[in-house]
Amino acid sequence: MQNPKTPKPAKMSLAMPVAQKKPAGAKSAARTKPAARRRKIPYSAEEIHEIFRRFSIQRPEPEGELDHVNPFTLVVAVALSAQATDVGVNKATRALFEIADTPEKMLALGEDKVRDHIKTIGLYRNKAKNVIALSQRLVDEYGGEVPQSREELMTLPGVGRKTANVVMSMAFGIPTLAVDTHVLRIGNRLRIAPGKTPDEVEAAFLRIIPDEYLFHAHHWLILHGRYCCKARKPECERCVIADICKSPEKTVDVPAPLVELPR
Ligand code: SF4
Repeated sequence: MQNPKTPKPAKMSLAMPVAQKKPAGAKSAARTKPAARRRKIPYSAEEIHEIFRRFSIQRPEPEGELDHVNPFTLVVAVALSAQATDVGVNKATRALFEIADTPEKMLALGEDKVRDHIKTIGLYRNKAKNVIALSQRLVDEYGGEVPQSREELMTLPGVGRKTANVVMSMAFGIPTLAVDTHVLRIGNRLRIAPGKTPDEVEAAFLRIIPDEYLFHAHHWLILHGRYCCKARKPECERCVIADICKSPEKTVDVPAPLVELPR
């Protein structure tokens, strides 16, 4: 966990998840699934394994795209990212995190100034309130540290299951499967992890993702959705799993060359 007194790195970076590797014994937390109905999917276990194997070759060390310098700034960044782009959040938090990278400093800054920093982000008034409220709760209940369990994280104002899962994975190395709009779309479009709600899709993915791929699966799916299997029109000619994909929307059957992508 972060120490608020630890000097912060001089520069925020995309390549700066707080922890990259999953700790021993963390797997049981990741597999705590939300209740969901089991649906039959048109993929064999071998095909699913192959999909994630190819993702792992394309992006051996996938990283999130939200800038942060410690678990606290990660919680804030993810909470701010609801209905906003990572690029937009990063623009707003760059200056904010330089002056307030701990709950104590955020409280000292105050709601009005937090609001000024994030006013380019949708729902900024509510989000500023939540940032202050969650900072207060961290100071009051957790000694200024970010808790590691999903249950505790979800007691923080503005922190839902998705945010908790992202923080557990990126800050503490606990494998989870946070479901955002891209993961939800891929689960349903490919009919690989269908579900009406993020909880259903999370449970469906957790049932099928091989253990060795679970830790990075969240980022692989997000990046695949953001840059290839796009919402409006999937770019199937650039897709490395086009031969396996069973989406009615796919336009080609020939997979793109399997090479590691530049970061
Ligand atoms: S083939 Fe097309 S629809 Fe299927 S995963 Fe790839 S981009 Fe998405």
